[in-house]
Amino acid sequence: MASENGKAKDAVILGAGLAGLSAGWALSRAGADIITLEKDKQVGGLARTVEDQGFRFDLGGHRFFTENERVERLVRDVLDDEILEVVRSSKILLQGRYFDYPLNVQNALLGFGPVTAARIILEYAAERLKDRFSEAESVSLEDWVVRHFGRTLFSIFFKDYSEKVWGIGCDRIAREWIEQRIQNLSLGRAVRETFSRSGGKAARTLTRRFLYPPLGIGKIAEGLKADIEKRNPIITGARIVRLHRRGARIEKVTARCGDETRETWGPDVISSIPLNALVRLLSPKAPDSVLDAADRLRYRDLVIVAVMIDRERVTDETWIYFPGKEIPFGRLHEPTNWSARMAPPGKTLLVTERFCFRGDETWSADDADLAESTATCLADLGLIDKDEVIRHAVIRIPNAYPLFEVDYREHQETVSAYLETFDNLHLAGRGGLFRYYNMDQAMESGLAVAGKVINPMPALDLPSTGTDP
Ligand SMILES: Cc1cc2nc3c(=O)[nH]c(=O)nc-3n(C[C@H](O)[C@H](O)[C@H](O)COP(=O)(O)OP(=O)(O)OC[C@H]3O[C@@H](n4cnc5c(N)ncnc54)[C@H](O)[C@@H]3O)c2cc1C
Repeated sequence: MASENGKAKDAVILGAGLAGLSAGWALSRAGADIITLEKDKQVGGLARTVEDQGFRFDLGGHRFFTENERVERLVRDVLDDEILEVVRSSKILLQGRYFDYPLNVQNALLGFGPVTAARIILEYAAERLKDRFSEAESVSLEDWVVRHFGRTLFSIFFKDYSEKVWGIGCDRIAREWIEQRIQNLSLGRAVRETFSRSGGKAARTLTRRFLYPPLGIGKIAEGLKADIEKRNPIITGARIVRLHRRGARIEKVTARCGDETRETWGPDVISSIPLNALVRLLSPKAPDSVLDAADRLRYRDLVIVAVMIDRERVTDETWIYFPGKEIPFGRLHEPTNWSARMAPPGKTLLVTERFCFRGDETWSADDADLAESTATCLADLGLIDKDEVIRHAVIRIPNAYPLFEVDYREHQETVSAYLETFDNLHLAGRGGLFRYYNMDQAMESGLAVAGKVINPMPALDLPSTGTDP
């Protein structure tokens, strides 16, 4: 049994995704003595990049975008400013036609013909009127979208894709998810613009810019790791198996590293591992009511199937979304459209995402069968010829998305209230807090918990982005 030299650490960090690494970066720079434990061989968690014989891909393309200047400065700093600015252009395949994505209502009104457009507008007007006389709050995604946009638009644009992503009916998906994603969408404005004299030309552009490291999103995590390792260890291949609790404190953390058991402890523990897993690792066991609530917090899992192609480029899109049930994946991206360095010269790759639950048919399928059905489907869609496929890679990703079922908040609150009773346990990150965080928010949450461990946190040296005032 290995202990950390019998010496207490200032903090033990569980998980080396962007949240854990950002916390580690800040604490390390502030001079703390820390240790980070990560179950995978590679750091980065969901935001890592896989390398396969000169082809590179993220686990579902990851665009970096933030309004937080400190986080952007940190990213630019760890990447040595080697970062591309990419223009986003995405499509969604609906009833055999490609439409702009995110939803461009004008595009939909014009694209589905006058009868459907008239129905969408009438339903919208009726829903707005109904809304004036109703005080009921929407609970599910279905209620919320129908109330804001009408049933026809819900059925065409939202229903199939949402159910594919989440694996449950839209009446069971909490409204929060969709609400966050389409915050600034106004059907009323879109209708006015569509039928104004400009004929829709004045439409707000849906094209947006984002940042991307030339060799894949995983470079951010690798940069943070390199900085932390100047002063402190990051142990990969170390799965946390137990958190020993006594009173209001976590006393010790046990990890399995292959055949070895490793124990470590410190005044503070920062956890970015999935919230429900953390509760189950407590010893002695957490109260039954808390374990029960943790069991009801579910995550959606993901299988990535990447198909390497002997051609320079297949599409010119950032992402393409496929809501249709007949298509086994929900989304694809072509990494060479993000950075030409993601494939050897003259070659490209298509990376598809299949949403699933661990242990279901998709999760358990053979890699070769997954690759074969993906290639067949891409050929049927007219994107590739099957004989252009050079090789494939399949990656299974547990806990990709916190699953917001309509009653999730109650269970999350039960678990969080219990974990808050520990003085020295700090939660961060997407799975760690059970929040639908993007990378920048995961990083922000890591920096925030570091500020609880060392309070006040000294000002850490970061160069200006050039966008600073
Ligand atoms: C398909 C997909 C596409 C996305 N696209 C974007 C995008 O375009 N832009 C964007 O900003 N965000 C995107 N995101 C979100 C982004 O990936 C996350 O917000 C971010 O990576 C979360 O970081 P984290 O550190 O909080 O969590 P994670 O990355 O999940 O890190 C948690 C870490 O804990 C480790 N761990 C778990 N259990 C244990 C254990 N028992 N012992 C030790 N270690 C353990 C895991 O291996 C992992 O490394 C996307 C996510 C997905 C799934």
